[in-house]
Amino acid sequence: MTATDNPETADVLVVGSGIAGCSAALAAARAGAEVLLLTKAERPDDASTDWAQGGISTTRGDPAALADDIIAASDDTADPDAVDVLVETADEAVEDVLIDTLGIEFDETAAGELDYTREAAHSERRILHVDAATGTHILRPFLNHVDDHERIEVRQDTAALELITHEGRVHGVVSDEKATGTPIYAGTTILATGGIGALYGQSTNPDDATGDGIAMAALAGADVADLEFVQFHPTAYAGKEPFLLSEALRGEGALLRNAHGERFMPDYHPDAELGPRDVVARAVETEREATGEVVLDVSPLEFGDEFPGIAQKCRDRGIDGNEIPVAPCEHFLCGGVAVDDRGRTSLDRLYAVGECARTGVHGANRLASTSLLEGLVWGLRAGEDAAGAEPEVVEAPDLRNRDPDLPERFAAEKFARLQRTMDEFLGLERDPGELARAGAVLRRLKGEVDAYIRTRTARDLYELRNACVVALLIARAAGENPESVGCHSVVEDEPAPEQTAND
Ligand SMILES: Cc1cc2nc3c(=O)[nH]c(=O)nc-3n(C[C@H](O)[C@H](O)[C@H](O)COP(=O)(O)OP(=O)(O)OC[C@H]3O[C@@H](n4cnc5c(N)ncnc54)[C@H](O)[C@@H]3O)c2cc1C
Repeated sequence: MTATDNPETADVLVVGSGIAGCSAALAAARAGAEVLLLTKAERPDDASTDWAQGGISTTRGDPAALADDIIAASDDTADPDAVDVLVETADEAVEDVLIDTLGIEFDETAAGELDYTREAAHSERRILHVDAATGTHILRPFLNHVDDHERIEVRQDTAALELITHEGRVHGVVSDEKATGTPIYAGTTILATGGIGALYGQSTNPDDATGDGIAMAALAGADVADLEFVQFHPTAYAGKEPFLLSEALRGEGALLRNAHGERFMPDYHPDAELGPRDVVARAVETEREATGEVVLDVSPLEFGDEFPGIAQKCRDRGIDGNEIPVAPCEHFLCGGVAVDDRGRTSLDRLYAVGECARTGVHGANRLASTSLLEGLVWGLRAGEDAAGAEPEVVEAPDLRNRDPDLPERFAAEKFARLQRTMDEFLGLERDPGELARAGAVLRRLKGEVDAYIRTRTARDLYELRNACVVALLIARAAGENPESVGCHSVVEDEPAPEQTAND
């Protein structure tokens, strides 16, 4: 352990440059803090925010109705206080930051009114969007804005590897700028590192969604919660290189059909295709297993005109007709680092916002188009709260980089094993008996990775370490929750045949 002679410091250090990180940085700077925004992304499209399609929910003047939909979609497990924070702050945050500050021009109707769309499990048309590429249209101006801000420095292609902690307080991170790690000290540290899609073989997320913030926080002793609630999106393209077919397609009338051409969702939920995500995802999987295929029938829409970006992706994969083969695919983590209504974690001076945080808004299942909103609202609240603390220089972990024997494809091969384990045991349905096996495989894998982490600071090794930590936490949370609720579906073990005296 060493402290450096000329340590780098910031008032507020934000890790991650999606909507949550940009919002936190903006709010902290508005509150007078000098902010350093560290991101391992090199381009904006390395963040899930840039990939978001359907849009961002507003309340459209009726916070209670949005709150009811969020709580219903969560199987009554969302925290009503957290939901109230979200819905009471939503419209003001969207208007102040996205419309007035960034000047985002959400789609309008021919009459010049905002064109609100609807998605599954929303009782109203209340979602603002730009084509079906809303994330790109939000994140790129947001990054430009924070980059131009006089009190914010954005540093790209720089990963946080470890938190610096001392006597229960967090003092910043060690980044990968130097091979032996570079300590960056901060008055407060805000994790905004996004989701965990890379833990699964099939995910809608970018490859670098490796759960870094959750793992770093958990390793430092922060509380985490609701990690068993991994949301699978019902309609990803069922082929090589899956991509998301936004819920807005079903919101505008697209239908799900099985291999016999039959529409099946009315048998599974009174809202049919617009039922909650977890219900639709399990129905799609059941029908795929029973009949061989499920397609999204977009013939009720003007598909090419209304969703040009998605239509182009289909054409790129040779789909010109109206029927797109779909399958559920890992999409979002409802749980994460446990935080309060200002994004404060259980560790002093550590905050978490966006998909890496568990605010309680999503409970066991997230309502469509509330994730961008949660990142925006909690990012702003945490950034404002985090301003005002002085950085303190303490001893930082001294990372090593001296083992020449790391096999070249070590990280890639272990990642593939991790993904196979997650796909097999921690997918849409969980078998309690098999969860113990998954835990054993993951623990062995983490042991192998830990052996190299002690001697190497390579980013991919740390990502693998983080993915192993989060995978183990998910397996543990799933094993500890015997109740099927929301995204967490527990299948009963086959009863063992009864033994008789003659057996
Ligand atoms: C295809 C797709 C479509 C979606 N559509 C919608 C939608 O229509 N509406 C909606 O509300 N939600 C949608 N979502 C979900 C939503 O986009 C995400 O949950 C949300 O954008 C997460 O924002 P975030 O800021 O928390 O994380 P992200 O946007 O993922 O940003 C995380 C950032 O952290 C950086 N990072 C990670 N680890 C480190 C590290 N160790 N050091 C430094 N930087 C690090 C990453 O590089 C990235 O910049 C969609 C998601 C996907 C994948």
